[in-house]
Amino acid sequence: MSFILKLYGDILKNFKPKAMEIINITDKLKRTGYFSRRLLECITHIAVHHSASPMGKFTPYVFARWHTDPNGRLKAPGICYHFSITGDGKIYQCNELEALAWHACDANIYSIGVELDGNFENEDPTAQQITSLLWLISYLNAQLGKTLIVKGHRELPGNATACPGKNMMAIKDQWQINNPK
Ligand SMILES: [Zn+2]
Repeated sequence: MSFILKLYGDILKNFKPKAMEIINITDKLKRTGYFSRRLLECITHIAVHHSASPMGKFTPYVFARWHTDPNGRLKAPGICYHFSITGDGKIYQCNELEALAWHACDANIYSIGVELDGNFENEDPTAQQITSLLWLISYLNAQLGKTLIVKGHRELPGNATACPGKNMMAIKDQWQINNPK
């Protein structure tokens, strides 16, 4: 076997498809304080959001600056999501699960906030985003040892909003696959 063929064979033998990963940026995002903490036992739901901004225009670092802006609408101590999924499917963790982030009013105490970048009132989530969301749901179910109920933000009681956008809700059967019927 030629050296090149052997080298190629060795590369193939050692090739493993890259597992999805969570890029933890909780310590890198702007914060002005800390959210209250909750017990993991409180968590029963995942609330899915869109960023309501054009896909790719802003990053979690920008959202963190807005959410913590003392002159802004939220005046939160940190970014108000637990996870952010960019258009190319990268998953960023923005808060620890125990952080009681302000993403869904009365539903904050029992839900994990997952934001997908894009305005799904007028654009579509990418296949990579949906794939990553499904992976993240499975990951969180395994981490917490339970089947979390996955809802669009606007489906949660006490949340009058279009979020996560009509185009995301139109395909909810694709990302609410484990919910009790
Ligand atoms: Zn939302």
